[in-house]
Amino acid sequence: MVLTSATAKKETPPVESQTSDEATSTLRTVFGFDRFREGQESIIADALAGRDLLAVMPTGAGKSLCYQLPALLGRGLTIVVSPLIALIENQVAQLRTHGVIASAIHSGRPRAENIDDWRAAVDGRARLLYLSPERLMTPRMIKALSKLAIDRFVVDEAHCVSQWGHDFRPDYLGLNTLKAHFPKTPISAFTATADAETRQDIADTLLRPAASVRVFGFDRKNLRISVLQKITDKSQLINCVKSFPSVSGIIYCLSRKDAEKNTEVLCDAGFSAATYHAGLDQEKRSDVMKQFMSGDKKIIVATVAFGMGIDKPDIRFIIHHSVPGSIEAYYQEIGRAGRDGLDASAILLYGKSDIMRRRRLADKSQSAANVRDRIADIASYCEGKICRRRALTRHFGEESKPCGMCDNCLNKTSAAR
Ligand code: ADP
Ligand code: MG
Ligand code: ZN
Repeated sequence: MVLTSATAKKETPPVESQTSDEATSTLRTVFGFDRFREGQESIIADALAGRDLLAVMPTGAGKSLCYQLPALLGRGLTIVVSPLIALIENQVAQLRTHGVIASAIHSGRPRAENIDDWRAAVDGRARLLYLSPERLMTPRMIKALSKLAIDRFVVDEAHCVSQWGHDFRPDYLGLNTLKAHFPKTPISAFTATADAETRQDIADTLLRPAASVRVFGFDRKNLRISVLQKITDKSQLINCVKSFPSVSGIIYCLSRKDAEKNTEVLCDAGFSAATYHAGLDQEKRSDVMKQFMSGDKKIIVATVAFGMGIDKPDIRFIIHHSVPGSIEAYYQEIGRAGRDGLDASAILLYGKSDIMRRRRLADKSQSAANVRDRIADIASYCEGKICRRRALTRHFGEESKPCGMCDNCLNKTSAAR
């Protein structure tokens, strides 16, 4: 575990056994879990102490519990900001299975339901209120909320505020005035992937200087990581997929067109594959998502639009058909595999021409220099000879031992250094 603080070098002191008995008993009685997972206890203790906090924990580690549980212990309302309607709906439904009432207001449902949910939040029946960032930051909502007792604001998928991040959303930037609108209300931010620069960015945008920053577990021990020289021939992709018979996986492509083309290649070869990208209509996307979640479709061939917050434990492989835009994006995407703790593979097909394509795209972006740096980082990762897992955890400021199962570790001639 690495511990850092938003204010440069000052470290957040470790918090152990400070979490109240009440939290532990709520964990059992409401959520039905015996014990906290790594990190949850100290994050919950920070929240209960009323601190601003940024928690970085891998996908599937259990970040939601870190704000859902404190929400049940306070007197007031917890506001949760989430970027996607699907994520909001998932959480509300999941909480309901634990007997917890949560409200949500978003554009994907009838006005009458939004009004009902708002009433439930105002009169205290609902303990949490889920909102999109653009809903929250309207002057009308800010005004209405300032009349309520709010215990805490939670910003989930907080890396979306960072312009350097791969999922940047302009609406998330609007959250930068939240702390000024509610100077006394603590704010918690959660994300799965953030290197030091992105962490700083999130803290600067959302939090106050004394915020606690806690970073956990970048070392995913069940991931078998490899980088292959890309061959521009469809047999390479087919052979990769063949080595994972009848299990679920995701193939990430650079463009929508690539995703569609590769889906066709795989379907022609007899695989159960479907395309997912932001160009499909909402209904089609949610169909594909459902089929993947249920296991009816094994393989999703997607752009980066697919996967944020996805809670499918048995994804066995992630293939990057094209080099990702940054180490962060890459780490976030491979983090979706093997959430059940069983073996999973991540294969990146690395081609210099894809780096060139990325560079050309970068030149069109507003922050071209930074984007180019990130492309250079991922290119040198791909060409690097040290243990893949070690290189990745180092990027996030954590040391790990050679994994013994990545391509570099297995390649004796370039023994992991
Ligand atoms: P993420 O960190 O990706 O947001 P989630 O909050 O969606 O992860 O949690 C992933 C899964 O882990 C959920 O199914 C959740 O119920 C489960 N989980 C969370 N905390 C615990 C715990 N202490 N013990 C057992 N399961 C847990
Ligand atoms: Mg989550
Ligand atoms: Zn290794």
